[in-house]
Amino acid sequence: MTTCTCSARLPFRALKTKEDLAEVRQRFRELLEEGLLELLQNYVDENHFDNTLYRCTRCGCEYILNYVHKGFRGYCGPVEKPAVVDTTHFEMRSVPLRRLLDYLLNSGHEPSYNGSSVYGGRPGNWVNFGCCFDEISVRRKFNLPATVEYSEHYDVKGGSISMFYDEETGDAIFGPHPLMAKGTGVKTIRF
Ligand SMILES: [Zn+2]
Repeated sequence: MTTCTCSARLPFRALKTKEDLAEVRQRFRELLEEGLLELLQNYVDENHFDNTLYRCTRCGCEYILNYVHKGFRGYCGPVEKPAVVDTTHFEMRSVPLRRLLDYLLNSGHEPSYNGSSVYGGRPGNWVNFGCCFDEISVRRKFNLPATVEYSEHYDVKGGSISMFYDEETGDAIFGPHPLMAKGTGVKTIRF
């Protein structure tokens, strides 16, 4: 049981301008000075992006500030707690993506999501791992056909992802967007 009110002070917020960014940077700075937050990760490139993670010193809740300067887009707010994921049964029908899935599972990567498409309304089994992919060498290693597409997406609320998507089955294996993963210790699968 926690009586911490940090989430009320740090609600989700979309950032659309430099002024928005300056305002939330100032807010986080104040909360750091007050000792309410501690800094977990701070990867800032003034020309490109802010990728900063904080933790509430009272309850352990985490907050992220994620901003891409090009196009002025980003958000800040609570990091949602990962749901319990079934790692024993996968619906994936895509034969090529199964090869990649089996490799990731057998090499100790834990999926953080196993379910339907994160974009909704589509068939297929989508599985998320906390790693990025070097498209060319992964494609070669697992003999992925042209019907398996690689793409990178920036999505404010849902998080930014990179993915291999099998257009024949609707299945996908995805991970963080490489830009958002920079400096965070996220591994890139490369052969
Ligand atoms: Zn808290």
